[in-house]
Order: sequence, then structure tokens, then C-alpha cells
Amino acid sequence: MTDQSGRPRVGAVKQITSHSNPIVKEIKGLVTLRKHRSQSGLFVAEGLKLATDALAAGWSVRYLALGPEARDNPVAQRAAASAKARGALILEVNTGVLAAITRRDNPQMVVGVYEQQLTPVDAIDPARATVWIALDRVRDPGNLGTIIRTADAVGASGVMLVGDCTDPFAVEAVRATMGSLFHVPLARLSTDAFKALAAKWPGMVVGTHLEGSVDYRSLDYSEPALLLMGNEQQGLPADMAACCSHLVRIPQVGQADSLNLAVATGIALYEIRRKHLSL
Ligand code: SAM
Repeated sequence: MTDQSGRPRVGAVKQITSHSNPIVKEIKGLVTLRKHRSQSGLFVAEGLKLATDALAAGWSVRYLALGPEARDNPVAQRAAASAKARGALILEVNTGVLAAITRRDNPQMVVGVYEQQLTPVDAIDPARATVWIALDRVRDPGNLGTIIRTADAVGASGVMLVGDCTDPFAVEAVRATMGSLFHVPLARLSTDAFKALAAKWPGMVVGTHLEGSVDYRSLDYSEPALLLMGNEQQGLPADMAACCSHLVRIPQVGQADSLNLAVATGIALYEIRRKHLSL
């Protein structure tokens, strides 16, 4: 069954064995090129856990590719049935096709293609927020994914990507989120839009800075908080630091110039959320 453009109708199952199948090429394009992700509004997430996370959180699935192992796996079959019921095209593929799509020798048994979701800036509501994390020009997809995962773990309200950031829907970033991408709201803001938001933020705007004179543990954090983190190479520029009501530093001994961005974000987040987290 095909639609008017000749593509198989959604909500169907299709077997694919050829690496040159147009859908395989389309998915490979989403894995390798940001341009393809931006133009289509789609992205690729590998693994059954991410598929179940995406479905549970109500994200739209375009394709779900299942390798041979998934055919005998009840969780994978339930995910496929749920995705199909929501209009996804289920692709039954061999391991070679899965490896080609993901460019991995040992691919996961399930690979999904999902519609990107971003939170519009005007939907960011400080009145309902715990803490939002703002990342100034984050460059490393692994750092970004790790921060999204940590944001999820501490119950943060979301992550703002300020200025020219790495793509949160790149495969490496998605992988590092371990599924938290589907649970943590993400917003993209220009530097000016961030400055405007920070200026009217009703709570603390906490910047982490290597030149901060305040120990991050000495503040009495209240919510809603806005935690601003600097770029991996350049840190926080002066105009961004000027947006903050507090500039804090995480003490260090030893020879390291600074902490890794994701590590510093985790340390600050656990302190900000300390009163609200218990075992
Ligand atoms: N060369 C950069 C600089 O001069 O800031 C290093 C940037 S660091 C890798 C990335 C970000 O992590 C910093 O901008 C800051 O937000 C945070 N960070 C890292 N170590 C920190 C520390 N000890 N105290 C406060 N923030 C820190």
C-alpha cells in the first residue's frame, strides 16, 4: 500500500533487505547530517529502551526498524504494535541494514525515527519551574546528552540551548541522554532572547564561573532557579555573566583548569535541588 507520493502508507509493516532502499537512505541521512534533521524535523534514536520511553511520553514515531532479535522479543513487539497503532511504519530489517543505518558493527535491535519536539520560549513558565538550565553555546553532543540526563534525574524543568549550540537531536547527544531526551523539555533561544528572559526571571539566576568569588554551596537556593553554564572553551562571556544575580564557583584543588561542563552542571544541580531530593 502506498500513498500519493509512492511511500508506503503509515501504520503498515514493510520488509527491507536492501541497503539502497530509499527509506534506509533517508534514515542514514538523519543519522549523519544535521541539515537533514533540520529540514525534516526528524531524528534517530537507537534502542528498545528509547523506543519505549518515546512511546510512553507520547512522542510521534515515523519509523520503527526492528532487527531479527526484536521479532522474538515481547517488549519490542509491544512497542511495534503501539507505534503502528499511532501511524508509524514498522520496518522489518536484517542486522546488516540496522548496522548500515546506525553505522555501528553491533547495532541495537530497534532503531526509531521520531519527530523533534521543542518547547517554544513563550511556553517557559517560571511560575511552575523548579530549575531551568541554560547552556551557552554548548558544543559537545556528549556533554549536552549527559546534562539532559542529569536534568531528568534531579527533576529540572528543562534545558535552554542559548545561541549556536550543538544539535540535541544528533545521534551522539540522543545516545548520551539514555532516554531522558523524551522527558526533559528543550528550548532554543538566541542570546538576546535569553537575556530578555533572564531579566524578567522571578527567581535566582545563577551563573557558574571560574572567576566567581562565591562558593556554590554557600547560597540558599530557592526556586524557580535559572542555572547558566558557560561554553566548553570560552566559559561565560561578560555580557552573559552580567545577566546573573549570583556568580558561583565550584572549588577545585589540583592542576585541572576547570571541570567538564556536564560534571559542573551536575554538581550545581544537585546543590540547587538538594532540599527536594531524598532516597
Ligand atoms: N576555559 C573555560 C573558562 O575559562 O571558563 C572553561 C570552561 S568549563 C570547561 C565550562 C563551564 O563549566 C564553565 O563556563 C562553567 O560554567 C562551568 N565550570 C567548570 N568548572 C567550574 C568551576 N570550578 N566552577 C564554576 N563553574 C565551572
